[in-house]
Amino acid sequence: MAAFETARAGYRCVVLEAGSQVGGMAASFDVAGIRVDLGSHRLHAATSPALLELLHGLLGEDLQTRLRQGRIRLGGRWVAFPLRGRDLVRNLPVGMTSRLLMDSARSVAVSTASHDDGIARSFEEVVSDRLGPTVVREFYGPYVEKLYGIGADQLDSELADRRVSAASPGDIARRVVRASKPEGRTFYYPRRGYGQIVERLADAAVEAGAEIYLQSPVTGIDVLPDRVTISATTRRIDAGVGLSTLPLNILATVMSPRPPASVLRAFGDLRTRAMILVYLVLDQPQFTPYDAHYLPGPETITSRLSEPKNYRDGDDPPDRTVLCAEVPCWPTDEIWRWSNDQIARAVIEDLLRLGLPEPRVVDGQVLRLPSVYPVYDLSGAAARTAVDRWVPASDRFVSLGRQGLRVLDNLHHVLAMGAGAAASLRPDGLIDVARWQAYRSEFSGHTVED
Ligand SMILES: Cc1cc2nc3c(=O)[nH]c(=O)nc-3n(C[C@H](O)[C@H](O)[C@H](O)COP(=O)(O)OP(=O)(O)OC[C@H]3O[C@@H](n4cnc5c(N)ncnc54)[C@H](O)[C@@H]3O)c2cc1C
Repeated sequence: MAAFETARAGYRCVVLEAGSQVGGMAASFDVAGIRVDLGSHRLHAATSPALLELLHGLLGEDLQTRLRQGRIRLGGRWVAFPLRGRDLVRNLPVGMTSRLLMDSARSVAVSTASHDDGIARSFEEVVSDRLGPTVVREFYGPYVEKLYGIGADQLDSELADRRVSAASPGDIARRVVRASKPEGRTFYYPRRGYGQIVERLADAAVEAGAEIYLQSPVTGIDVLPDRVTISATTRRIDAGVGLSTLPLNILATVMSPRPPASVLRAFGDLRTRAMILVYLVLDQPQFTPYDAHYLPGPETITSRLSEPKNYRDGDDPPDRTVLCAEVPCWPTDEIWRWSNDQIARAVIEDLLRLGLPEPRVVDGQVLRLPSVYPVYDLSGAAARTAVDRWVPASDRFVSLGRQGLRVLDNLHHVLAMGAGAAASLRPDGLIDVARWQAYRSEFSGHTVED
């Protein structure tokens, strides 16, 4: 997005991308002739009208408006997700429903990031205050523990601000009412996989004059008073300014001036959760009509199961489908070293344990992503603050994006960051730092949609 906007504004722009294709975590690729994503991806209805208009202009009819067709496992039952009124009443266990109603009836305090005494609060405390203890016990508690590998009582309330958009039981009730109508549960998805969004943006950037070099990992960045010199394995560039979406820990090792020793030490205290993505190719037209199954409970290693074909009306082969299972873990876990067959078998066991039909698996693929979710643990708060204070933002160089700011976000958020960085360029070509910082304050209000 930054390349597209800067090239459109008449700057010469060069993109150096380490991967063999554009898109990063939002890319798509082919498994058995079916385009798949890196876990379940959808463009959420929260996308700003201006961005949507731009993407509709670029993708035309390929950007489809779709109805969410998901389910979540709660209290051993399947419940439509996003939650919907009649379905909730019909499918949620009666005991859980009455506990939720009791929670809603009691007055709930609106959360603040800390008590008056300044002591940091946990995710569990804040979400329990906002939404009641039942939501934490039955959903958020197990789900965040599965995703981030530590209990909700060890996670910082900052995670609640980043991930939980509902502020009260009333808010949840309003969402349930909204999602009960079809227009309240729409999303956008391209005909050829989520990656088509960034592929089309990249094409448009090139049409506007940007140069994109793939398989060109950046190995050195020198921010000098009069220029920025960027070295990649394939070329070296002298630029007026640099915009980086490199993961911050990599940036810290390739950038000059180097961060102070205290910041380098702080990086050692930051934890990032890994994920194994298991793609199962099935010799059947469709596994279920659902696009995603959300699995918060500890009874499965899979946190979400998606069926890419069900996200779109596409050109997929009629006789087969692919499932994608997301398995969060640490790279130090035993499962990280399991063979692909072992992991696939464990995922299939998950499906059977949930009472889903037996999949007719004929092939598969496994990806191991070492760095997927930044972990907001209470014990890492000081390290996060030290790193946040260091994040480069000068008139010649800024760091942005999911890993460049070490935030949880959606694609519409990082596209807003790219557009914001481009809009922060002054007529003399340098970065207006005050303007960029104002954008960053806006970004700090981003809340992830699931
Ligand atoms: C499981 C999962 C599900 C998600 N679901 C959704 C969803 O439903 N909807 C949604 O909108 N978003 C979703 N997201 C978020 C979305 O994927 C991210 O917001 C987005 O991809 C972040 O883009 P980015 O460019 O900031 O970072 P990244 O996608 O991480 O891209 C960083 C880029 O930097 C490159 N790079 C790294 N090191 C170097 C180097 N040394 N030199 C050059 N290049 C380098 C990488 O190759 C990569 O292309 C999901 C994310 C995950 C993990």
